[in-house]
Amino acid sequence: MPDAIIPRNEQQRLAALDELGILYTPLEERFDKITRTLCRIFNTPIAYVSLIDKDTQWLKSTQGLDFVSTDRSTSICTQTLLADEYMICEDLSKNEHFKDNIFVTSGLKMRFYAGFNLKSKEQNIGTLCIADDKPRTFSQEDITTMRDLVSWAQTEINLTQLGEVQMQLITELDQAQKHARTDDLTGLWNQGTIKEVLQRAHHRHLITQKPYSLMMVDIDNFKQVNDTYGHPFGDQVISAVADELKRSIRPTDTIGRYGGDEFLIILENCNHQRAEELSQRLLHHNKKLSILNKDKKVPTNISVGFASTDYISVDDPESLLECADQALYTAKQEGRNCARG
Ligand code: GH3
Ligand code: MG
Repeated sequence: MPDAIIPRNEQQRLAALDELGILYTPLEERFDKITRTLCRIFNTPIAYVSLIDKDTQWLKSTQGLDFVSTDRSTSICTQTLLADEYMICEDLSKNEHFKDNIFVTSGLKMRFYAGFNLKSKEQNIGTLCIADDKPRTFSQEDITTMRDLVSWAQTEINLTQLGEVQMQLITELDQAQKHARTDDLTGLWNQGTIKEVLQRAHHRHLITQKPYSLMMVDIDNFKQVNDTYGHPFGDQVISAVADELKRSIRPTDTIGRYGGDEFLIILENCNHQRAEELSQRLLHHNKKLSILNKDKKVPTNISVGFASTDYISVDDPESLLECADQALYTAKQEGRNCARG
């Protein structure tokens, strides 16, 4: 790879970065939330936040990488700094600039890269990136999604410059946004958000042609639990089942509370057969769940209905959801505590 081209305003850029005072601080959880979200949304193995100093690229948060800095001369992101907003390369191995880069030829063998500039005082100080070891396409909608995440990262960066009162306001705003998107009892995405994720998953399916599956999970005879042990204990059961489901799915799957005792799981890159295996796994894990009331184990069974795009041809995500719901109905009819698809 040719030597990194130094941006014309390098001095101002380095001054802006220096002024932030976050260069030598350790990896930070607040950025981890962003990179974890990126991996989940885009289903990539790698996401990171980087700050680019004179000779070194420092990683503030990484998913899928096990180092915290690289020499700037080998950094792909240093080229992104030259762009105003972003640099996207669908296959690095086919790009003249990057085909011989160490991250492309060895180790991770990176193929796909999308890096968006992070700014301070209008200077490009670093990047928010996703990468993959397989080539991929990146749509206009993906760019729009990435912009939202950049704005989140930008807020975190700006926080380091603000006074305490403003920081508090932003934290409150953050909490308000989180509150609007998640379910209070379980901490899972709420119905509105999970439906939004479903739209995006369907859109990606249309582009990639990879199958995806939906799973509707509903607690069996839950009314009886409320009637026998009371509503607060019922709440504990919903929470415990939600935690167990979250533990049983892959990091790239998305789960939301769809209704009272009902959950929706979206499994991208997952066909009918895999969905069937996963639903058996959910049933198995749930069986081992022990929820105690006054030292007495309360049995909590679930029923699962699933539907997959490789098995049922649908024009829209709502139809797939209807099929999963119908399958759940069948599971309930056929005795509960089972999965149907
Ligand atoms: P089935 O096996 O057919 O699903 O029977 P069920 O008794 O579970 O019936 P259903 O799923 O229709 O009932 C869900 C119940 O969940 C009804 C409602 O009173 C209760 N519920 C809904 N939201 C909450 C909640 O937040 N906390 C508690 N404790 N109960 C809730
Ligand atoms: Mg139920």
